[in-house]
Amino acid sequence: MSGEHHITPALLVNRRIAAYQMLHLLFREPVHLTEEALSKWMEIGCRSFYAELCSMEDYKKAATTIRNLSAAFVAVLPRILKPGESKFLHKIADLKPDAVLARNLEELVFFRDKQVPVIVDFSLNVINDLAFYQMLEWGAERVTLGLDLNEEQTSNLLRHVPPERVEQIIVGRIPLFTMEHCLWKTQFLKPAESCNKMCRTQPLQIEDRYGALHTVRSDIFCRNIVERSEPLEASPLVSHLRVEWDCRIPNLDHKIGRWAAQQKTPE
Ligand SMILES: [Zn+2]
Repeated sequence: MSGEHHITPALLVNRRIAAYQMLHLLFREPVHLTEEALSKWMEIGCRSFYAELCSMEDYKKAATTIRNLSAAFVAVLPRILKPGESKFLHKIADLKPDAVLARNLEELVFFRDKQVPVIVDFSLNVINDLAFYQMLEWGAERVTLGLDLNEEQTSNLLRHVPPERVEQIIVGRIPLFTMEHCLWKTQFLKPAESCNKMCRTQPLQIEDRYGALHTVRSDIFCRNIVERSEPLEASPLVSHLRVEWDCRIPNLDHKIGRWAAQQKTPE
């Protein structure tokens, strides 16, 4: 694809995104969570970093690195949490995150009760003001809107909710589905073999019948998440960006093509 760019601090400054929105960056690769790399983002005003990682060890290291820079550490939680898996939430709570990104109601309630600020992610599918206010009532600090809304529906909804409580994803790849099945385990290993860390370190893409390549990643419980090949089409949203919004940029390691190419500098 021509015109691909990596999201960098310089690109955001050029697009004047960072100048007037509260910017949060989401990291998934421990290798990107270095003081040096984070400092560059802090230079353009970023003060909070979200970490979505595959081991408690990595979460601990991320918390330390981010705190050393006096930035906020936001722990990103898995989409699925089955009975018996809430031990993980206690371990995250022990790290004393400045906030968490909750992907389901159990996570929202658990951290609300521990007085940790909770940001609700799009997986809670908030697509009307009723759901939005319900999340606030249940203790959410900010709410990311569900992804099923088109541009017109999004702007309609935004007229009815407090803009300072909205968190907007600027760009990134959207998860198509999460599954229990670990592709690494079933494709590359013998039945008795454990995938151990293979699914968390080896990149994998699957090709659909149209030839599009979808990235597959694994979460801390070894569940696989298939992400859409095309990045989120953020151009329509950019025209609605509000000063009050908190903006999140996930997947820094992905190349983002059309967004960077089409996005106009705001007046
Ligand atoms: Zn696995």
